[in-house]
Amino acid sequence: MSQLSPQTTSVPQLNPDAGAEQIIAAGLVAAKGFVTLACSFSVEDVVLIDILHKVAPEVRVFALDTGRLNEETYEVAEALRERYALAIDWYFPERQAVEQLEREKGLFSFRANLDNRHECCRIRKVEPLRRALVGKGGWITGLRRAQSVTRADLAAIEIDQVNGGLLKINPLLNWSDKQIWDYAKEQGLPVNRLHEQGYPSIGCAPCTRPIREGEHPRAGRWWWENPEHKECGLHQ
Ligand code: SF4
Repeated sequence: MSQLSPQTTSVPQLNPDAGAEQIIAAGLVAAKGFVTLACSFSVEDVVLIDILHKVAPEVRVFALDTGRLNEETYEVAEALRERYALAIDWYFPERQAVEQLEREKGLFSFRANLDNRHECCRIRKVEPLRRALVGKGGWITGLRRAQSVTRADLAAIEIDQVNGGLLKINPLLNWSDKQIWDYAKEQGLPVNRLHEQGYPSIGCAPCTRPIREGEHPRAGRWWWENPEHKECGLHQ
């Protein structure tokens, strides 16, 4: 990867109680270059699309089509496209890398061990993400502290060193599940049907299952792995 995104000068200091709109506004001012929203069509991302439509409609939305998404996820994408006349910048994995992976290791190599899982995520998610962030000054995510042990230290705005030093903007970091769902219901937003089938967190179809009562919200992601490994390389 030769490209590096434009360097930002500093991370703006925000009140710990700053709301989503304030965080977005501060991020847009601080970013050196275009800011984009990474959308996986989770309920958090749908909430963010609605907020951005109201306060910063110039922000573009991109999505990664890993080739292993649920049909229900595509349905949400289409519903959003129609509701907001939303132009989604889709990114696919490199064809040759996917062909080589599937020819050499089959279709479920990611279940064999952590290295294989990271290899699949690298090909299908991380590399397309890098391309999506080329030339951008910042990216907005739907990450929340409450989602995972790996996200407990999340900041509202941080420098994303892994992706070349652009800003990573997390407007919903302090939102609870209830806040997210109350907002989605009040605004009548299109949400993934899988949520009501026990999927609080939705990723690729073969790596996501519904959770049982009492389980952590991310227990259904890569459920065969330890909790501290449950990231795909998009967020580190
Ligand atoms: S979540 Fe699963 S299918 Fe999707 S890229 Fe990662 S390992 Fe591959």
